[in-house]
Amino acid sequence: MFERITVCLDMYGCPNRCKHCWVGHSSNGNLTKDDLIYVAEKFRPFTNALTVYDWYREPDYRDNYQELWDLCSRLSDVRENHFELISVWRIVRDREYVKWLSALGLKKAQLTLFGGQEKTDFYTGRKNAYNEILEAIDILLANQISPRIQMFVNKDNIGELPLIETLITKSELEKRCRSFGGEFSFFMHQGSCDGENEKRYAVRLTGDDLHKIPQALADYTLKHFHKTRIEDVFGKSEQTLCEELKNDNSTASYVSETPVFFVDNRFFVYPNVTTPGPSWCLGNLKTEGAETILENYTQSKSVGQHIRLTVPVCEIAASQGDVTSQRLFEKDDYIQYLTNQYCRL
Ligand code: SF4
Repeated sequence: MFERITVCLDMYGCPNRCKHCWVGHSSNGNLTKDDLIYVAEKFRPFTNALTVYDWYREPDYRDNYQELWDLCSRLSDVRENHFELISVWRIVRDREYVKWLSALGLKKAQLTLFGGQEKTDFYTGRKNAYNEILEAIDILLANQISPRIQMFVNKDNIGELPLIETLITKSELEKRCRSFGGEFSFFMHQGSCDGENEKRYAVRLTGDDLHKIPQALADYTLKHFHKTRIEDVFGKSEQTLCEELKNDNSTASYVSETPVFFVDNRFFVYPNVTTPGPSWCLGNLKTEGAETILENYTQSKSVGQHIRLTVPVCEIAASQGDVTSQRLFEKDDYIQYLTNQYCRL
């Protein structure tokens, strides 16, 4: 028995195709309520504390989002509050949605920008995404929900940070949040280097880019991450990390008493470690059943888990690291990036 299991079924996918998306791009599904009930029933015998989600890509994407929320509540022993993640696609098309979020007690909602209109539309993978995000900010504020803007930065869009600073100032986001007792927040980061974002490896920031960050945006970011130096947000160079890892013989287990599982729209199951992809697949719920999948998980039988458990990280780094690279990484993200590369050998 597990202390707790959280299971997230990718019922409908996502309207976006973000270029930083760590869960990766796959076709949108069209699963039914019975599929969600089926998934919950399969995992239920293995814990007394089950939590069920109908998404792991865009939440509330489908018209029946309220019904699915209620169903998830019924299927779950432990029900969380609504994430501070919302569907931008829905909020500008469905006026009831924000009222529903508000009634659930949502106080903050996160939105992702990549710079101005052109960069944001490009990186979100959807035309008009930028305008919809701006409209979503106004809708949230009108309903006393504070927007929290996230920006993913790399060498290709770091020059757009002043546009974000201007947007925050001109739109008076701080003042408007304060007017109802809320608090505006902003943070930037590079994101982990997996899923779609792995394709942006070549344009990851290097140390000499950090001076391009406007002070006001750096201050918001430091506050968000509870850090004092912007270098601590963006991490160390790949060269430095390779040097640190070269004598590190450690291995790691991803097995937990409170696992989170992603179930894709073909019922393949993955641990929530990195992009749900072939290297991390634990099996198919329909054809192999939950018992086998949980055994594969606890015995670290997915390729990725097995490698991380049996190959010292120094070996993975020696095989896949670039000792000349100045690209910046947070250490755990870098190990994950190297492990994913190693899995594909
Ligand atoms: S990052 Fe989120 S919104 Fe963007 S494509 Fe991935 S799941 Fe969809």
